[in-house]
Amino acid sequence: MKYRNFPMVPRVVFGRGSFDQLDEILEPKRKGDAPMIYFVDHVFEHNEAFKKRIPLRGKDEVFFVDTTHEPKTKNIDQFRDRLKNEYGTISGTIGIGGGSMMDTAKAVALMMNNPGSSADYQGWDLVKNPAVYHVGIPTISGTGAEVARTAVLTGPEKKLGINSDFTPFDQLLLDPELVHGVSVNQRFYTGMDCFIHCVESLNGTYLNAFSKSYGEKSQELCEKVYLGKDVWDDESDDDMMMASFHGGMSIAYSQVGVAHATSYGLAFVLGTHHGIGNSIAFNQLEEFYPDGVAKFKKMIEKWHIDIPKVCVNLTEQQYETMIKVSLGMAPLWENALGKDWKSIMTPERLRALYEKM
Ligand code: NAD
Ligand code: ZN
Repeated sequence: MKYRNFPMVPRVVFGRGSFDQLDEILEPKRKGDAPMIYFVDHVFEHNEAFKKRIPLRGKDEVFFVDTTHEPKTKNIDQFRDRLKNEYGTISGTIGIGGGSMMDTAKAVALMMNNPGSSADYQGWDLVKNPAVYHVGIPTISGTGAEVARTAVLTGPEKKLGINSDFTPFDQLLLDPELVHGVSVNQRFYTGMDCFIHCVESLNGTYLNAFSKSYGEKSQELCEKVYLGKDVWDDESDDDMMMASFHGGMSIAYSQVGVAHATSYGLAFVLGTHHGIGNSIAFNQLEEFYPDGVAKFKKMIEKWHIDIPKVCVNLTEQQYETMIKVSLGMAPLWENALGKDWKSIMTPERLRALYEKM
């Protein structure tokens, strides 16, 4: 048995208003006049008060990125080409937003020091050279992307992360004030990504004491916020920021399961975003996660959330691609169903599940 030796984010700041410490954090990491590059979710583009707080020095640049679609390998390659052309090298990247922006900052940081297309590195341990310095600042809680050793991208052939020891951030800044403006539905979907990480980790065959300790704490926080309280307050934002962190730590040493494996198929064929895709999938998975799904249904009811149906009038080809993408996620299925998963999750059974989603 060989145990995973996984890297963790070495530095973390947590606290309301901690965003104002960013300048001082970046200062010693600046390399001459090479700029820091900020990737910021476009929701902040017209938020003048927030923009003023971004600590720009010298040639630093801010890209406001449209997150209508999740990040693609071609977007990453374009950013890298543009930055290489313009500056040769940069001091670092800072991702400010949800999973999309954090993954963008990680992937661009990696691609500044690795040749070719980011699509060449979608997979496990394909990256040869360390990334430039990169910082993650979440503005919505749930994905665990802030601690993950992956940067999830959609490429020409697949939606798959760049998983490597060079992917995790060098620095995290967790400021729950930044989460304030997220809509109720989006907050729910991304929050449920976290809850689903816990259920899939805690009910998986890969579970160990490390994953269990983080997963249990994270699930406890999700249940406190989504079931134990009737109003959403500042404490809920603090709790969900920590739940996301713990959920990410839990799956770092285990794996996700059926909801993620099926949601990746929805994302690839229909472009369904991660949080909502997981929610759509999980809602149909009582047979695999009875307790988790029962709690999830109570949460939907309590917070008056709509879970749309997306598999409507699909072609045979679309179903086939979805099934192929999903069954390609072998470690997820093995974690969920055990070594014999192929005889349990047949293409026919998966098709029947998709038809309900
Ligand atoms: P997101 O980054 O896709 O953003 C979702 C929406 O929330 C966007 O419309 C965005 O504009 C909005 N938003 C973000 N912050 C806001 C704020 N403070 N106020 C108002 N609106 C705000 O959402 P996500 O669910 O955090 O991330 C999903 C992405 O993360 C997907 O691309 C998925 O593949 C990836 N992901 C990565 C990992 C990982 O380990 N690297 C894990 C899970 C998901
Ligand atoms: Zn997830």
